[in-house]
Amino acid sequence: MATISITLPIYNEAATISTLYERLNGAAEQISHEMEFVFVDDGSTDATYTKLAELSANDPRIKIVRLSRNFGHQAACTAGLRNSDGDAVVLMDGDLQDPPEVIPELVEAWERGYRVVLARRKSRYEEGLRGWAMSAFYKAFEWLSDVPLPHEVGIFSLMDKTAAQEVAALPERHRYIPGLRWWVGFNVGEVWYDRERRFAGAPKQTLRRLIRYALDAIFGYSYKPLRLAMILGLIVSTASFAYGTILLLLRILGINVVAGFTTQAVAILFLGGLNLTFIGILGEYIARTYDEVKHRPLYVVSEIVKGGNRTVDAR
Ligand code: UDP
Ligand code: MG
Repeated sequence: MATISITLPIYNEAATISTLYERLNGAAEQISHEMEFVFVDDGSTDATYTKLAELSANDPRIKIVRLSRNFGHQAACTAGLRNSDGDAVVLMDGDLQDPPEVIPELVEAWERGYRVVLARRKSRYEEGLRGWAMSAFYKAFEWLSDVPLPHEVGIFSLMDKTAAQEVAALPERHRYIPGLRWWVGFNVGEVWYDRERRFAGAPKQTLRRLIRYALDAIFGYSYKPLRLAMILGLIVSTASFAYGTILLLLRILGINVVAGFTTQAVAILFLGGLNLTFIGILGEYIARTYDEVKHRPLYVVSEIVKGGNRTVDAR
């Protein structure tokens, strides 16, 4: 019999844990494989860890990977993947926005032979600006990146053991798991679902973090910003060369042109702005290169709890 791991990053979700566990159990009952639940406690400061520890004392299927501080969603997901032992790993958010009821469908698609199964959102519940920003991101990503990623797909997915370990093993620090998952390949299936409202509390990924995540996705999978900068630079230089030629001709022909202040001021400000923007774009790539060459690990594990027992045998 195969084993399925369900792997969830958790950060300050104490109010959600018991319902989450109930609904995960409900899903597990419909699956005829052994189950493993891997909860990654991403440095929670509320009762999350205590609640998880209580559950794990009575349920040997539970493994808690406790990180030494808050490392962020993508690092927590990676820690979860590395510490999952299943033949297939289901990765999902722990705030119940990804409904556990979809898991049996993912597993079924895997049984039919797909090695990666994406859960795609038919609809989403997101408050105000957040929802708008998320759809805007998917559009921008599609236009900017060279990666044919499907719309409205996040981390919620099933990966077989090999795919999951390959994704987890990719060394980059600025991680965009949907992109990494695309990169490792394999035959990919899809299951559609309605993304739910958060069960309790406010989103733990602040808008600022989401923006950083979006920039990681764009700069991590595309050189188009650089290319666009270069093209715009070429257009501007061609235009100024043409303008210069015209001025020179007028001068030679003796036509008296006194250039006004406006033209100069506009030209200087425009080119200055363009330069700063492009240096900024360069900076985004350089900062990322610097972060990558530091080769710091993505996270630090403080302990692993399995069946109520503590170990430090982390990966
Ligand atoms: N999360 C995490 N570390 C963080 C932020 C979030 O492990 O630093 C978890 C969070 O508990 C939740 C999941 O990642 O289970 C998704 O987070 P959230 O709902 O805040 O993000 P969104 O749904 O807006 O992408
Ligand atoms: Mg959420």
